[in-house]
Amino acid sequence: MKITTDGECRHVAIFGATGSIGRQSLDVADNLGARVDVLTAGSRDVEFEAICRRYKPRIAAMSNTDAASRLKTALADTDIKVYGGENGVESAAYEADADNAVIAISGMAASAPMMAAAKSCRRICMANKEAIVAAGQLLLAAIRDGGAELIPVDSEHSAIFQSLQAGRKEDVAKLILTASGGPFFGKKRAELEKITPADALAHPTWLMGPKITIDCAMMMNKGFEVIEAMHLFSMALDDIEVIVHRESVIHSMVEYRDGAVIAQLGAPDMRTAIQYAMTYPTRADGLAQRLDWRMAKSLTFYPPDTESFPLLALAYDAARRGGTYPAVMSAADEVAVGKFLRGELDFCDIFDVVIETTQKLGRSGDVTLDEIVNADREARVVAGELSDRIFAKRRGAV
Ligand code: NDP
Ligand code: MG
Repeated sequence: MKITTDGECRHVAIFGATGSIGRQSLDVADNLGARVDVLTAGSRDVEFEAICRRYKPRIAAMSNTDAASRLKTALADTDIKVYGGENGVESAAYEADADNAVIAISGMAASAPMMAAAKSCRRICMANKEAIVAAGQLLLAAIRDGGAELIPVDSEHSAIFQSLQAGRKEDVAKLILTASGGPFFGKKRAELEKITPADALAHPTWLMGPKITIDCAMMMNKGFEVIEAMHLFSMALDDIEVIVHRESVIHSMVEYRDGAVIAQLGAPDMRTAIQYAMTYPTRADGLAQRLDWRMAKSLTFYPPDTESFPLLALAYDAARRGGTYPAVMSAADEVAVGKFLRGELDFCDIFDVVIETTQKLGRSGDVTLDEIVNADREARVVAGELSDRIFAKRRGAV
């Protein structure tokens, strides 16, 4: 494993480099003057080739084998080693040997590379949330066993991590996660029936990939983040609270036993959280726009509406039940959101598909990673069939 002093970031590996977090991580690496040694992507080889030509990593890997073969041919004039398939991405992680490995692969596919990177890299900068939601306890233990430290990248968890620097863990009373409330804040269920993908993709404060933007619009994302926080900070669920904060200026807070509340504030820009994960415990000049405190502004807070947005309550319930419940919920959500984005499901139908699949397939008790992967797979099939049935029924009714 590479030995460097804390906060130094000379070598970076970015897993999921073509994505929203991946590209912003490249901006941060540029800003820090770090060498990008290892890059991976899924299947978008044309975009990935351009990134590889610009950063000239030692290793480039793609999980899609056809895309990897095309990339290998395209990069034949370079010294870049190209690996293909899920094993190829995992091998790239074993060989990464970096100060910081940014895990920005979406979904459960991130779990094998993150465990491998924990063995070769000093620090895991964790953006992925689906794998942490589904198998947080097992994956965090594997990362610890691998010898790497883990710093969260998700903005709320970065804010909590930063706020935790102000006190001792045993003095923490509560974690308070802020939620923007998304574009449909204040709407009742009946008003949500006719929401289109374009409506749901218009997030008021954050610019993100489509899947996570829809999750935000449903408060499902906040449910995932509660589970992430429970695992990342070893907190009891009852001590994790969600509040709607429309302006997305306070990224989350920690309440200590004496009643003091410490928060992290800033512009809604993921590059701040990514950079902090790479430079902790030091800080470097940032890329985000500064907040102008001389401009009149107000910060507002509301309780979440779990009646109109039932998936937040479902997430608390799934976390309490444990076992495969969170994995099933997350997989069902991914399927249903994909269908909604393709116009094959209505917005409120996503709620029904996720709730019904979770209730039908979830199982409590101790589970292995293989059992979680199988539960994820099964949930996708069941959620897909359920979505198709609901959609066919709706079309029949028109
Ligand atoms: P994107 O969909 O934009 O990017 C996902 C990346 O993962 C792409 O590089 C993609 O490659 C790659 N990928 C997809 N499937 C596989 C696979 N099976 N094996 C290997 N690589 C794969 O996602 P985001 O950047 O938005 O999010 C990444 C993660 O970070 C998610 O878990 C998300 O929840 C989390 N997150 C995102 C935030 C945001 O602001 N976007 C905020 C907080 C957390 P390709 O392009 O080739 O398909
Ligand atoms: Mg977040």
